[in-house]
Amino acid sequence: MKRSNPKVERLRTIRHVRRVFGWLLETFSQRRARISMCFVPARQGYVGTCCYKKAPPRFTISLDRTLDTNEAISTLLHEYAHILANGGAAIFKVKTPEDDAALHDDEFYQMLGDIERCYYYDGGVEACAEKSRDKRK
Ligand SMILES: [Zn+2]
Repeated sequence: MKRSNPKVERLRTIRHVRRVFGWLLETFSQRRARISMCFVPARQGYVGTCCYKKAPPRFTISLDRTLDTNEAISTLLHEYAHILANGGAAIFKVKTPEDDAALHDDEFYQMLGDIERCYYYDGGVEACAEKSRDKRK
């Protein structure tokens, strides 16, 4: 059996997570600000973060680049829920650990539940699956 090449695996993960991100933008669109996503070196204590910049208005989701595909996807769904919950308002004022804890309120988990249901149980996984098979027809 062929041993999988870590670099190839990495690229496959990044491609897959980018497809999920595209699906999120289409399925849960918002007009408040642009949203971008990037992969960053591992940071102590965080697998993902989301921050907001005012000019021009933009949310940036950063994902730990050492995560595997499933970890990266669940982290992406989590951070995306922060942007949609309360219109992203809570992200603007995170300064202390207490603010960070307050981010994970009922509205946040309601939103995360909606997103996860849509992704895992209502066609999201299939919509984000690799399309290469279609070419072989
Ligand atoms: Zn969070």
